[in-house]
Amino acid sequence: MSGQVNDKPGWGARILAGLKGGRKEKPLSLRGYPIHDLVWPQLFELELKKGRPLAVFDADDVLLDFAAHFDRYLGERGYRLSFAPGYRHTVTRIADPENRIETEISDPLVEQFFTTETRRQSAFPGAAEALARLAEEGAQVVVLTNCPVSAREDRIFNLQDLGMPVPVVANIGPKGPALKYLSDLIRAPVTFADDTPRQIASAARAAPDVHLLHFAADPWVREAAGRSDEAHHAPEGWPDLEARIRSHLFR
Ligand SMILES: [Mg+2]
Repeated sequence: MSGQVNDKPGWGARILAGLKGGRKEKPLSLRGYPIHDLVWPQLFELELKKGRPLAVFDADDVLLDFAAHFDRYLGERGYRLSFAPGYRHTVTRIADPENRIETEISDPLVEQFFTTETRRQSAFPGAAEALARLAEEGAQVVVLTNCPVSAREDRIFNLQDLGMPVPVVANIGPKGPALKYLSDLIRAPVTFADDTPRQIASAARAAPDVHLLHFAADPWVREAAGRSDEAHHAPEGWPDLEARIRSHLFR
């Protein structure tokens, strides 16, 4: 098991205090990016090199098994996970024959899951090896996940433990603006892989130069996620995803 993953406790609070206090406003050049104040410090912390290609990955259901794990977690509590049209994760009570969506309990269950299970999620076969090969070939790698900011340290720990020692940004809301910022910052080819069609759409709107890969590693999730009209490609497995990333980044 890896040890402490962040030797700079309070880094986010310090930078945020700098943004809010010492500097009254963000620098002019950053005003065009509608990015949450809790996300900026994480972006500033990234040590990215200009001119070097960048592969950005979502975590849940791309690198890490979320849906099947969450479904097992719910099962132990009398609930199950299913998907409504539009790839909406819904929680229903197993004993309810009418399959009514439990809107009142689903949010706390998701929160509890991230609190207790983020350190225990498993990686999809081939993900860690693909990230290592891409990094070895010269790509920069960033994980852009919408896990709660409070679960970020656990996510970093978990990814390290699974052989993916990569920087993690816990984003809030649409991911397009953060991708646009990263793309403008490095000025080199960027790829983005995510299972959620609305995140691919957000990226297409905000960061049109980024190569978009609609990808879910688990076939159950892939079917539920449906189609993304904005994606450049929808890989069916990690080998295809890795090949697409490589051909875009090192063309
Ligand atoms: Mg995801």
